Amino acid sequence: MKKSDSHVHTQYCPHGTKHKMEQYVKVAIEKGLEAITFTEHAPLPIDDPVPSKDSAMREEDVYAYLKEVKGLKAQYGHKIEINAGFEVDYIEGKEKETQLFLEQYPETIPYSILSVHFLKLPDASYYCIDYSKESFVEKGSELGYEMLYTLYEKTVKLALSEPFGTLTPKKIGHINLIHKFKKGYGYTDEINWKQLLTLAKKNQYKLDYNFAGMDKPDYGEPYPNKTILSGAKKLDLILETGSDAHEPKDVGRYFIEGEID
Ligand SMILES: [Zn+2]
Ligand SMILES: [Zn+2]
Repeated sequence: MKKSDSHVHTQYCPHGTKHKMEQYVKVAIEKGLEAITFTEHAPLPIDDPVPSKDSAMREEDVYAYLKEVKGLKAQYGHKIEINAGFEVDYIEGKEKETQLFLEQYPETIPYSILSVHFLKLPDASYYCIDYSKESFVEKGSELGYEMLYTLYEKTVKLALSEPFGTLTPKKIGHINLIHKFKKGYGYTDEINWKQLLTLAKKNQYKLDYNFAGMDKPDYGEPYPNKTILSGAKKLDLILETGSDAHEPKDVGRYFIEGEID
């Protein structure tokens, strides 16, 4: 398997750090990676529901982002493969808007990730599941964890059903992101993960094998977790390693040291 970090953020991410993309490339080369794929959060088709309004890159930065990858390819392409993609949000009810975005950048789709960070709640508002433990616990107490988990399962199912037809990025991001704060509350997960994995297999999706989870105090494992991972392996799903780095030092975290089974 190619040593590749296929989930990397940049200075264009407002909740990330100011380090330039070049720094990420340099770390990737230093750590001996053969490829790095930038996957900045694509601009949102909704008003950002988080209090800090910093979930994704700004529309007006997309051109500069893609141009910067091109420049880095010219400069470092002989040392490392560099690709440009997006981490695209699957947002229920905003499929048309998202598809219009993807239509503009078809060349990025093979390198992109489709993630679920936002749930459409029964009152039609959107809720970000991974903003903070406080927010998640508050929402869980208000609506019930069962409702949040059920909505998450339903939304991931939609994301795995090729919502943008041939323009769908066929790699699902951190499939169990809903577990990010799980040590902070008591709830037994009743999501049918096997069914989700089977759907991924049927529609030929890959899985983002995401090591950011290792550094989350209320989670502490990669996404997918051990149980889901073994289910994925049984189905022969393709896993692609990613650090989800929001700063250069995290490029390749954990998986390049061989800490993966
Ligand atoms: Zn991010
Ligand atoms: Zn990410």
